[in-house]
Amino acid sequence: MTSNEIKNLDANHVMQTYGRFDVAIDHGEGARLYSPEGREYIDFTSGIGVNSVGYANKKWADAIYAQALKLGHISNLFYTEPYARLAEQLTARSGMKNVFFANAGGEANEGLIKLGRKYSHDKYGDGRATILTLVQSFHGRTISTLAATGQEQFHKHFFPFTDGFRHIPANDVAALEAALTPDVAAVMVELIQGEGGVLPLKVEYVKQLRELCTQRDVLFLADEVQTGVGRTGKLFAYQNYGVLPDAATFAKGIAGGLPMGGLLASEKTATVLAAGDHATTFGGNPIAAAAALEVLSQLSDETLKEVATKGEYVKDTIRSWNLPAVGEIRGLGLMLGVSTVGVSPKEAAAKCIANGLLILTAGSDALRMLPPLTITYDELNAGLAILKGVLQ
Ligand SMILES: *Cc1c(COP(=O)(O)O)cnc(C)c1O
Repeated sequence: MTSNEIKNLDANHVMQTYGRFDVAIDHGEGARLYSPEGREYIDFTSGIGVNSVGYANKKWADAIYAQALKLGHISNLFYTEPYARLAEQLTARSGMKNVFFANAGGEANEGLIKLGRKYSHDKYGDGRATILTLVQSFHGRTISTLAATGQEQFHKHFFPFTDGFRHIPANDVAALEAALTPDVAAVMVELIQGEGGVLPLKVEYVKQLRELCTQRDVLFLADEVQTGVGRTGKLFAYQNYGVLPDAATFAKGIAGGLPMGGLLASEKTATVLAAGDHATTFGGNPIAAAAALEVLSQLSDETLKEVATKGEYVKDTIRSWNLPAVGEIRGLGLMLGVSTVGVSPKEAAAKCIANGLLILTAGSDALRMLPPLTITYDELNAGLAILKGVLQ
């Protein structure tokens, strides 16, 4: 089919819930994507942080194929090896105790919220269920994760939202202390706010947050749906901060392009969710788990170091252009934001795409880059050249 034929079918038969870019994609290779007509794009989006090991990754595809021929799905009422092995790998590399597998970020965060509330209810009973989240956060599209999301634009149409969330400004220790009233069960944060604008939390703030939560037995919950699985140059972003949250979610990058998410619990919260408390039909599906095992094996500590180095390279390169259109350069590893000056990020992104670079926006002021973690320097340079052409 041609791009236009695909777009027409979509316009006629798909709920028009996405403000899509005017591009259809047929296939990819490494960090390059191709339209049905063969137009080439360098990809700085990786499906919004999903295709962590790039496109047409042979070992990833083989792992999926082999598992599909063996066992494509079985209910969580039975044990499977990929599931158990993936849990072992994730806990070993995260410093966490155990894991619950879900299918997406929003669903993983629902589990995180349930865990936060049940921990508190088991110990302290009613009236201690409030969860603090940060202004400009994004936690998902379910009714509860929308309520958790600290952006007013998401709080419309779908009333009534779930009660019991309060939003506080990020990087403000005094505001955090004032908000930690006796009704608070947990604080839930992204260590780098993704959708909100690629806005990192400060190290000092996160350390204080950890300390205050420990003192008051309030859970520190990390939404690592976007920051997790190597994106920031560590397997989890909290590892850059030298803290261990009480529980953390992951999703986007974990299975390299298959739907998977999950919830990691620390020693302290590992037994909060017990038999009957939480479940999901597809969670830990053997094909997704086999894909995730392959992704983790490709994201060795050495590869993660390279992610950090590549991130610094991109920042240094953009800074060296000295362009008036470039404002702040934010983020860690290959989760980067560039605020634009005198040109809207939307306009700049559209121009990049017209010139062969797929790139995202974040918040109201920034371009966002989330390339595959395995992107080569050649691919990075090709994309950066297009970005420079657009911004100058
Ligand atoms: C994308 C994202 C979500 C939602 O994940 P879905 O898989 O779309 O449900 C939640 N939190 C953060 C930080 C995200 O970036």
